[in-house]
Amino acid sequence: MRRAIDVRDLRYAYPDGTVALHDVTLQVEPGECVGLLGPNGSGKSTLIRHLNGILPERLTEVGGGVAVMGETITRDNIGQIRRQLGLMFQDADDQLFCATVREDVAFGPQQLGLTPGEVADRVQRALEEVGLVELGHRPPHHLSTGEKRRACLAGVLACEPSILVLDEPTSGLDPRGRRELIALLRQVRATKLIATHDLELVVELCPRSVVLDAGRVVADGPTHQILDDEALMLAHGLERPHILQHRHPH
Ligand code: ADP
Repeated sequence: MRRAIDVRDLRYAYPDGTVALHDVTLQVEPGECVGLLGPNGSGKSTLIRHLNGILPERLTEVGGGVAVMGETITRDNIGQIRRQLGLMFQDADDQLFCATVREDVAFGPQQLGLTPGEVADRVQRALEEVGLVELGHRPPHHLSTGEKRRACLAGVLACEPSILVLDEPTSGLDPRGRRELIALLRQVRATKLIATHDLELVVELCPRSVVLDAGRVVADGPTHQILDDEALMLAHGLERPHILQHRHPH
């Protein structure tokens, strides 16, 4: 079976010379939900930006390091890759720029060459999925942080990607917004890779986790095993989630 995501020996330095990724290798199978953990600056966002070709800056530099659904990303197939892999950024304001939520959600599907009717159907389904039908007419900047996140998610879901990559989906949300988003993500059937500091989210949604530190994969395995490894967690600036503190070791 084709791997959903296949990153091999990926190395990346920003133009200023900062080496953000050192030989990162990571495979995600179709249907998996994988947590991507690591302290600030460990390379999570940089890695995510390689998965749909935002990085490197010049696609000609991609040397077979990243494949999505069996296709190595090249300049020629980048459009196709972006249809399959939807990316949700941490900062909703980067992703919402239209006059209304509905227009924002329609933006992605409109790029896919669908008929206006198909676009409208997808927008309606996506708004229903995230519970924002009532707010479709609102300007996105009038929404709460949680609603903005859900609007972004609707925009990604409306493109019907088979893989969903999320950068810090729960950061800045209040407890209710967080619960709603976790419940929503649980229902989404796509393959998921979730970069987050929210270890409770990881426990709830991701059977497997990968830990990055200083641009290197330092652990990859069952989430419970990783979170129970106190020495590993401390060594990489992570903290065992409170909900696991009182549990007996398996
Ligand atoms: P994370 O998402 O885990 O916080 P990042 O991928 O944002 O980590 O950062 C990885 C490393 O790359 C850090 O050392 C960071 O300072 C550096 N970095 C991130 N963006 C840039 C940039 N635009 N230019 C130079 N260095 C950057």
